[in-house]
Amino acid sequence: MFSKKTVRDIDVAGKRVFVRVDFNVPLTESGAVADDTRIRAALPTIRYLMDHGAKVILASHLGRPEGKPDDRFRLEPVRRSLEKLLGRNVHKMDVVVGPEVTERVERMVPGEVLLLENVRFEPGEKTNDPAFAKELAALADIYVDDAFGAAHRAHASTEGVAHLLPAVAGLLLAREVETLSSMISDAQHPFVAILGGSKVSDKFGVIDRMIDVVDRLVVGGGMCFTFLVAMGLDVGKSLMEADQVDHAREMLAKAKARGVDLLLPVDFIVADAIAEDVETKVVGREEIPPTQMGLDIGPTTIELFKGAIADARTIFWNGPMGVFELAPFESGTREVAVAIARNTRAVSVVGGGDSDAALKKFDLEERMTFVSTGGGASMKLLEGGALPGVDALMDKEG
Ligand code: ADP
Ligand code: MG
Repeated sequence: MFSKKTVRDIDVAGKRVFVRVDFNVPLTESGAVADDTRIRAALPTIRYLMDHGAKVILASHLGRPEGKPDDRFRLEPVRRSLEKLLGRNVHKMDVVVGPEVTERVERMVPGEVLLLENVRFEPGEKTNDPAFAKELAALADIYVDDAFGAAHRAHASTEGVAHLLPAVAGLLLAREVETLSSMISDAQHPFVAILGGSKVSDKFGVIDRMIDVVDRLVVGGGMCFTFLVAMGLDVGKSLMEADQVDHAREMLAKAKARGVDLLLPVDFIVADAIAEDVETKVVGREEIPPTQMGLDIGPTTIELFKGAIADARTIFWNGPMGVFELAPFESGTREVAVAIARNTRAVSVVGGGDSDAALKKFDLEERMTFVSTGGGASMKLLEGGALPGVDALMDKEG
């Protein structure tokens, strides 16, 4: 159960509502929004507030400007996209705070939407500067956090300002936290987690926690090679983190002690280089040539993993099974995603930016129960870690 108040629990009519959203979207080379998923995900909260007569002030970061204005990261493309999606005028400021913003906010009418400039143009955002948080708070009567993708960071617009105003969750943030937490607390069994992706060091927290709750743990992608080395195998030039081998060995032991079935690949597609036109071959996991890399799981592994997914009732997936961006190494990720989609009896939850990109590539996004918009934040939540942006919100009574 989500224990924080949401926009539905308070009166927003006529109030100035500062909404932290996650509009950190990819842009095309010409500077248009390349993927509007995150903007669409924030629409329910924005519409709710508009419909209930709030004056809606939106704030987001985009990319990594270094605490000062940077034309590459202005929110104008976001404004255009949002305006189209909402079918309503959206006015945008060229700065985050200051007299122009204060004056413009004073003129807002109920139902109006105003977009502030990229909050990371301000040096106080990432340092969570109290003075900057105070300037943000002065713009509004209520704070709404709907930026699940940024909830693991204690920045001025995600955490600082939440302590200075009545602070509640937006509908997206509430749904994200609720879905991810209940996946663990109310899981139907068999519960299967499928983990892949590149850096095993980023994912140990999740691996560790998953071993506590799942029946089966399927490990593919670049991260599996560190496990194979822990088992004494040679992985050639495959991605591997030598300083994590002991950690991987501990996880293997933990899974065994808990009776969790830990499935690792038994064969791979290998090549000399990560490129579209390289020569590839299938080898068993004991036969990876010293000069080559495993870049996707092999056909026998695909069958093994499909079998592990078929009878699951709860499925969590994070991390591609191979370098799915390139055609020669996409089939492992695609087949696993198809297997999850085909298991319509299971609740399927997907986290991670690249996993989501893979679902989009294979046109399977709609066939998952839930796809999280937060990469780092969803991992943090599943690890059982703190989400400062969420902790700072008001608790539900009783
Ligand atoms: P997510 O964003 O879903 O959490 P990650 O960021 O952990 O996933 O990992 C995604 C990346 O892992 C992809 O860019 C993919 O190309 C890469 N990857 C997967 N398998 C391998 C592999 N065997 N070797 C090298 N890179 C891999
Ligand atoms: Mg990623």
